[in-house]
Amino acid sequence: MTSTGPLGPSLAAPLVGRLAIVGIGLIGSSIIHACKARGIAGTIVAIDRDPAVLERCAALGLGDERTGDLAGVAGADLVVLCIPVGAFAAVAEAMGPHLKPGAIVSDVGSVKGSIIAQTRPHLPAGTHLVPAHPVAGTEYSGPDAGFATLFQRRWCILTPPEGTEPAATALVEGFWQAMGANVEIMSAEHHDRVLAITSHVPHLIAYNIVGTAADLETVTESEVIKFSAGGFRDFTRIAASDPTMWRDIFLHNKEAVLEMLGRLNEDVAILSRAIRWGDGDTLFDLFTRTRAIRRGIISQGQDAAEADFGRRHAEGAEGAAGNPTSDKPAGA
Ligand code: NAP
Repeated sequence: MTSTGPLGPSLAAPLVGRLAIVGIGLIGSSIIHACKARGIAGTIVAIDRDPAVLERCAALGLGDERTGDLAGVAGADLVVLCIPVGAFAAVAEAMGPHLKPGAIVSDVGSVKGSIIAQTRPHLPAGTHLVPAHPVAGTEYSGPDAGFATLFQRRWCILTPPEGTEPAATALVEGFWQAMGANVEIMSAEHHDRVLAITSHVPHLIAYNIVGTAADLETVTESEVIKFSAGGFRDFTRIAASDPTMWRDIFLHNKEAVLEMLGRLNEDVAILSRAIRWGDGDTLFDLFTRTRAIRRGIISQGQDAAEADFGRRHAEGAEGAAGNPTSDKPAGA
């Protein structure tokens, strides 16, 4: 008999016999919740280097088995690495010898070219690498932050290197679709350029503007907090994202981010000039174009028109503070 959970009815049979998730943070725990909700895996092994995280996983019922040892990937049909982008080489090296022949290794990292370069040399012949990036997230971290519906109706991008076994790619595609995601396949290089402008540079701008405001000598920190207008508050939400994760993203997607930053700097110079010379037409034309992009995002179901960016929490409405599930995703 099939049961119905938040993502719909359970699958008639699991897609993956034995699934190992390495790194039980926001994304790792959300995958476990989603897989459990739909019966996507027969057995789920939760692997994390921190004993306190494993204890928390036990309390939350995350994983059928839990271990701090990367040898826990032994026997897994699918291994999903849910760790910061800078940690892949060391983890792949330690995990590689334990993989069974035919195992598929995937991940959720926000940069793809670097992850392939770090991981591939450590995977034994006869295993498959199918990198993935769910474009979904929140500014929260750790095993308590995850929830089953995080990936629902969000995009997950797969970047299988040339020559990847089509059946391995198809398995990972089905895995994400079963969790409610839409899947698109592209090259790692293209992914890194697209995400540089849609995610990485916006985060850098948020970190930068919040840092600049905090450093202003003529405005006290309490004024920044007290008089934070909607725009600034939205930036503070993004700038609250995990420092390790974002440090690694910038260090590992260096070229694409620097290229997009160069273009951004040129455009900022044009805006400065328009403001200085009272050129309202330039400002108005740009703001009209950008408004159309926002409308496009809403009409394609990637955000709601009444986005509150977490303000509902502050006003004490349903979805009290501390419950990340009702937040609008930040995503990486
Ligand atoms: P998270 O909540 O901070 O969890 C990160 C996990 O990685 C933790 O379990 C952590 O273990 C583990 N870890 C950290 N450094 C490690 C190392 N050197 N070796 C082994 N394990 C290590 O982060 P997350 O948001 O789930 O992000 C995980 C991945 O998903 C990142 O690659 C990120 O780029 C990507 N991603 C994130 C989002 C988002 O919005 N958050 C969206 C899409 C993709 P400890 O607890 O022991 O530190």
